[in-house]
Amino acid sequence: KKIRVAVLYGGRSGEHEVSLQSAASVIRYLDKEKYEIIPIGIDKTGRWHLSGPEVLASTTKALPIYRNMPEVVMPSNPDALSTGVVALASGASTPTTFNGKFDVVFPVMHGTFSEDGTIQGLLELADVPYVGCGVLASAVGMDKDIAKRVMRDAGLQVVPWVTVRNGEWARNPSALEARIAKELGFPCFVKPANAGSSVGVHKVKTADALAAAINDALRYDTKILVEKAISVREIELSVLENIQLSEEPLVSVVGEVTPTHEFYSYEAKYLDENGAALHIPALLTPTQMKTAQDIARCVFTALECEGLARVDLFLDKESGEFYVNEINTLPGFTSISMYPKLWEASGISYADLLSKLVDLALARHTRKS
Ligand code: ATP
Ligand code: MG
Ligand code: MG
Ligand code: MG
Repeated sequence: KKIRVAVLYGGRSGEHEVSLQSAASVIRYLDKEKYEIIPIGIDKTGRWHLSGPEVLASTTKALPIYRNMPEVVMPSNPDALSTGVVALASGASTPTTFNGKFDVVFPVMHGTFSEDGTIQGLLELADVPYVGCGVLASAVGMDKDIAKRVMRDAGLQVVPWVTVRNGEWARNPSALEARIAKELGFPCFVKPANAGSSVGVHKVKTADALAAAINDALRYDTKILVEKAISVREIELSVLENIQLSEEPLVSVVGEVTPTHEFYSYEAKYLDENGAALHIPALLTPTQMKTAQDIARCVFTALECEGLARVDLFLDKESGEFYVNEINTLPGFTSISMYPKLWEASGISYADLLSKLVDLALARHTRKS
């Protein structure tokens, strides 16, 4: 009997469009001999649909960088499953599309209400096995302020930052501006605490541009980070939970992204086909590779991750030191995305990676119940 995998995608986040692309690849490559696939899309207003990503995609703008990707054709039923929570929790069915429960959920969503522990909490409550990090690691990993504190506590180097909350900023912007200028200087980076795909991220070169950047980042979150800008090489690693619990997580070969823009912005990631070059493996010495892999393993463990995560490091061009930039617990998952590409270069094909992730999800559920 085939394992029924619900692929949950879309969602109410700034990364909705990216999720449609990721889900299209996951659906395409999940092994049809082993799995029956039930695509469930969450539209931008939060309504749930039993249909493939191409149906929701028709209502949004396509991302140019993926325009050469093969089309995914899935049987679709655009009927809204507006009570998604109840449907999941009870295993309720819509008779036209499927009957009964699914065995496992693969959340292929990025950002808020997706990667931040909310969906994970819903699935825990519904007692449904799911791919990836649990509630705690998802929530901590999503919040860059909290994640940096946990990583710092684990002895990892993170870039110096100042946390700004909207109330504080509204009350006394000049005090905060002065503090940022003194502690961090310019250039600096301003980013929402909870976001992704560089949505709301700004490089600020002078003091007079700071307020506008902070105001913009505060559109996406009530808490933002201002970080010292460092001159960086951007290093990314894929981490996979080890099915043997006693063993350390598995870390891929090291990758590097070289944006052709001022930084690795949303435009460089998704709108400009020549926005960045990926180097797999990264052009590092064997010692640097090993250091990067040790750091990635440590991040995954410190944040109590399960399943998968992509760990992004900065290699400071001046000091040669590594900093942990951030972790992404549901990283981009198109067949051209860094997470699966790094595993491919490490000997695990895209399809095998998906199977491993489903196996890990089922194994965790068995272990915990
Ligand atoms: P992702 O899509 O990987 O989830 P994100 O939205 O979580 O990204 P960050 O990775 O924090 O955002 O920042 C986006 C980009 O901005 C980085 O890849 C890098 O190019 C640049 N950047 C962010 N912070 C710094 C910094 N302190 N110094 C130099 N560059 C930075
Ligand atoms: Mg991120
Ligand atoms: Mg992200
Ligand atoms: Mg990033």
